Amino acid sequence: MDKQSTEALVNLAARRSIILPAFAPYGELGGFYDYGPIGLRVRNNIENAWRAQFIEGMGNVEIDTTIIGPEIVFEASGHLGNFKDPITVCSKCKTSYRVDKLLEEFFMKKGDKKAAEKAAKLAKIPEFEDMLKDNHIKCEKCGNMLHKVETFNLMLNTKVGPMGGTQGYLRPETAQGIFIDFKNIFRNLGLKLPIGIGQVGKAFRNEISPRRLLIRMREFSQMELEYFFDPEESKLVINNEEVSDKFLKEKVNFITGEQQRANTGMDFEQITLEKGIKEGYIPNKLFAYLMYEAKHFMLNIGFDEKSFRFRQQLTDELPHYSKGNIDVEARHDEGFEELIGIAYRTDFDLKNHEKFSKSDMSIVNGEKKLVPHVVEISFGLDRLFWVLLSNSIHKDKTREWDLLLLNDRIAPYRYAVYPLQKDEKLIEKAMELNKKLNKDGIPTFFSVTGSIGKRYAKSDETGIPNAITVDYQTIEDGTVTVRHASDSKQERLKESEIA
Ligand code: ATP
Repeated sequence: MDKQSTEALVNLAARRSIILPAFAPYGELGGFYDYGPIGLRVRNNIENAWRAQFIEGMGNVEIDTTIIGPEIVFEASGHLGNFKDPITVCSKCKTSYRVDKLLEEFFMKKGDKKAAEKAAKLAKIPEFEDMLKDNHIKCEKCGNMLHKVETFNLMLNTKVGPMGGTQGYLRPETAQGIFIDFKNIFRNLGLKLPIGIGQVGKAFRNEISPRRLLIRMREFSQMELEYFFDPEESKLVINNEEVSDKFLKEKVNFITGEQQRANTGMDFEQITLEKGIKEGYIPNKLFAYLMYEAKHFMLNIGFDEKSFRFRQQLTDELPHYSKGNIDVEARHDEGFEELIGIAYRTDFDLKNHEKFSKSDMSIVNGEKKLVPHVVEISFGLDRLFWVLLSNSIHKDKTREWDLLLLNDRIAPYRYAVYPLQKDEKLIEKAMELNKKLNKDGIPTFFSVTGSIGKRYAKSDETGIPNAITVDYQTIEDGTVTVRHASDSKQERLKESEIA
C-alpha cells in the first residue's frame, strides 16, 4: 500500500466536500475554509480526543472566552508591538509575500533542504533582503525582482460600537482570555496549583500569504491549555496525584537548536525527556510532562511514531513571551510542519495584564501568595486535521480510488450501512439495523445511492473503516457482510455481533 501525495488529498477533499473554500461562488477570499459533513465529524473527533486527554484526563477545566477584545488587551499581551512577519511587496503588481516562507518553498522546490532550513531560521531584515537578491527571487505573478523587506503586524482589527466606535481586535490566539479570567476562576472554584485551563476556539491572523489550504489560514481553530504552576515547587501533581518520575524515561524524537544550526539534514534523534531536561533543551518538568502527553495524543489520533518529532525553537524564533519553545512537527509535503507549540510563558502574561489593567493578578495557593508561571501547549486544530489526513491517504493496487485510513477514534463514522441493491425489502431491513446501531450510540453512514462498488469507494475515501452490507441472506438468517476498508476483506457476522 502506498501513501498518496497532498495533491491527491486536495482532490479527494474537493470530490467529497471534506473541506470547501469559503464563499466560493463569489471568488475565493484567501485563507478561509469551510468544513463539510465528513470533515467536521473528523475535526470534532480530534477535538474530543484532546478534551478527553487534556481536560478530563488531567483534571483540568475548560472555558470559552470572547473572540473580540479591546486594544489594551493586545497591548498588554505584546501582540500589537511584536506579532509581526517579514513581508515583501512586488513593486510592479503589488502581490505580497511572507519572505521566510517564500524562500523556504523556493529552496524546497529546488530540492535544497539545507538552504530551506537556513531560510526558515533567518530573523533580520538585511539577511532576508540579501537572500532574495543572491537567489534572484522573482514575483510569482509578474516575474519582477523582489527586494525590499519590511515587517507586517498580523492582528485583524474591527470597530466596536456605532459612530466610529472603539478600536477592537480579533484574538490571534485563544490564550489571552484564559489569562484574564484565571484569577477569578481559580478563586471561585477553589482550585490548586498546578492547574490547566483550556479553551477551544477560533483565532485570527491576517497572514501575508495564506497558503497550502489548512496549513496557513486567516481564520483557524486552536485548542490551548495554559498550565499555571508555582516555579518554586519541585513536586509535580497532576489530577490530585503526584506524578512519578518514570515518565522522564520516555523517548521522544527530538531535534535540538544546535543540530538545526549545524544543518546536517538530520530529521531527529531519540532522546529521553530526562536527557532533554539535563541538557537544558526542556525548561522544566511540567514542560516535559506536557511533551509526554503530546506524544501520546499524536499516537492516539493515528500518527505513526516515526512521522513526528519535537523541535527546539532557535533563540531568534522565540515569541516575545517565551523562555523556551518546543514545537511538535509532523511529516507533510516532503518536510515537517508545526502542529503544536509548547511554550514556557513564565509570568509574562499575568504580570503584563496586572500592569496594564492595574488589577492584582496574584492568587493564594495554600499559604502562599504568588503570580504563577505558565507552560502553554497550543494545538492547531485545522493543521492537525489536515496533516493527519495527509498521513492517512493511501492507495492499494486492487482499488482505483483513494483510501483514507483513520482509526476508530477519529473516523467520521464507525460503519457505513448499505442495502446490497435498491430493493424495498433490503432497504427496510438495512434501515432497521441502521436505526438500532444509532440507538446504541454507534454513528453510521447510510446510503442507497449508486452501485455497491461505488458505495464501497465512497466509504473507503471518506475514512469509514467498515461497511455493512444487508443482502437477501440477512432477511433469512440475520447475518450481514462486514467489509473492512483497510484490506477490503469481508466477513459474515450476525447482526448482534456488531458493536
Ligand atoms: P507559524 O510559525 O507556522 O506561523 P506559530 O508558531 O506562529 O506558527 P503558534 O502561535 O505557536 O503558531 O500557534 C499554535 C498553533 O496554531 C500552531 O502550532 C499551528 O498549529 C496553529 N496555527 C498558527 N497559525 C496558523 C494559521 N495561520 N493557520 C492554521 N493554523 C495555525
